[in-house]
Amino acid sequence: MHINRLLAIFSSPFLAILYRRTLWTAVKLPKEQVLDIFRETKALLEGHFRLTSGLHSPQYFQCARVLQYPKYLHLLCGEIAKHFEYADIELVISPAIGGVVVGTEVGRMLQVRTIFAERQEGKMELRRGFDIHPGERVLVVEDVVTTGGSVFEIVDLVKKADARLAGVGYIVDRSNGKITFDAKHFSVLQLDVVTYKPEECPLCKEGLPVVKPGSRGNY
Ligand code: ZN
Repeated sequence: MHINRLLAIFSSPFLAILYRRTLWTAVKLPKEQVLDIFRETKALLEGHFRLTSGLHSPQYFQCARVLQYPKYLHLLCGEIAKHFEYADIELVISPAIGGVVVGTEVGRMLQVRTIFAERQEGKMELRRGFDIHPGERVLVVEDVVTTGGSVFEIVDLVKKADARLAGVGYIVDRSNGKITFDAKHFSVLQLDVVTYKPEECPLCKEGLPVVKPGSRGNY
């Protein structure tokens, strides 16, 4: 076969799509690699912590710390973008504040319009002239899902606008497998939350000093 004929076959759009699909599915980030990145950037701290809830935990997680580095923002958001690449997304929306940086990067990668909702007097709302168009295929993007509260509120905004919820993508699932959404959903990493009541905390029993994250310059 003539070399030009071969080149034509391998550069056909059909094969290009097939090749990209195969490539994408083959490169899902392994859990250990994501955990290493979280530890390296101090997004994930291990020790003995008193959380805002008053509960104690052997881990403290602050997603924003990993997202301050462009290469990791790109890598982690890329996982979400890849997952929804063929979902015909027309709009990305995220809840302020944590979700905005993730939404912006995912929207940029998918090359679609990207907006955010923000809490106004306790309620998630669209402001700044942002809107969701009827019939639009919408991807909701968040950094961390624990109770899913903000995401559920945005899903309501999508439904109220008569748009279509095409998926929900987030970097970390901290719901311990409890939260599911009424659409295709994807998380880069499931990171279960381990907590203890102070009186039952095994780390306290070991006599390890407890740290309140955010209370010192080094956390
Ligand atoms: Zn403790």
